Amino acid sequence: PNCGLCKLCNREQETGAHIFFKCRFTIRIWKSLIERLGLAHMDTSEWHMHESFYE
Ligand SMILES: [Zn+2]
Repeated sequence: PNCGLCKLCNREQETGAHIFFKCRFTIRIWKSLIERLGLAHMDTSEWHMHESFYE
């Protein structure tokens, strides 16, 4: 069993902030949700920044 690692990406500590805002899998879900809801006017440049940071 893993000890406190995020179950989605298995790379980072499973903290609330990580799961909701920093996990690359969560970010992907957020982005698809935003696109589906037609919220393209939201500033998503930050998301890209986070994603490349964890790449
Ligand atoms: Zn994660």
